[in-house]
Amino acid sequence: MQSRLINVFVVSALAVLAAGCVTDQKAAQAQLEQQSVLGLNWVQQSGEYEALAYQAFNTARRAFDTAKVEDGRKKAVIVDLDETMIDNSAYAAWRVENGVPYTKPTWARWMAARQATTIAGAVSFARYVNSHGGRMFYISNRDDTSYAATVENLQKLGFPGVSRETVLLRTTQSNKQPRFDWVKSKGYDVVVYAGDNLNDFGTEYYGKNNSERRLLVAAQQNKFGSKFIMLPNPNYGDWISGMATEYYKQTPARQLEINRENLEVWKG
Ligand SMILES: [Mg+2]
Repeated sequence: MQSRLINVFVVSALAVLAAGCVTDQKAAQAQLEQQSVLGLNWVQQSGEYEALAYQAFNTARRAFDTAKVEDGRKKAVIVDLDETMIDNSAYAAWRVENGVPYTKPTWARWMAARQATTIAGAVSFARYVNSHGGRMFYISNRDDTSYAATVENLQKLGFPGVSRETVLLRTTQSNKQPRFDWVKSKGYDVVVYAGDNLNDFGTEYYGKNNSERRLLVAAQQNKFGSKFIMLPNPNYGDWISGMATEYYKQTPARQLEINRENLEVWKG
């Protein structure tokens, strides 16, 4: 009888502890989301963010105009979608308000709502390319099940040449290299790539940590602004998972610690 009572006590104590842990992790997750607030304020409110976007697409246009292609080949431009051509910051702001992480179902609901807006300069750049002898390819890691919603969202915003052939979403893998290679196999020279994530420029960045990514960036420095066009994204990207091994498998509390551990701090 006594041991049964002890068992009940132990089980109850464990349940209370587990509930406490869940509450702690929920609070930590909400705090993680809060860390996005200033970045989202910057993207949604600042002229500086818009100026950088215009700068990126003006540079992209010059790079497109001056690029030479091999005889017989056609000019192509490959762009990422999210946070390169379209703005999903309202979804991130919804997460801040609700203190919840990215999840596939909530992201699917956001995509289905077709409410992404344009990044400044993106539509006119895409129209310029398609009306000056080039062809736009939109290569995104949105899941291919969102194809209809994504295409309708892009069409509503005025993006040109949006079709099954030019909008290549993720089917089997997030590494974009096979989709890049498919475009090249159709007789195109890809003269410009635009993205908000280094993974948008080629397979060599894929799965690397931040110091490895920075080394690659330094090695490819001459390509930025001539072939690779980088859009700013302070809110998410592989630069976050690049801070620690298996970053997204850590608890929210541990992710908060990792973020702090990655600060380079004045010792003064
Ligand atoms: Mg993106």
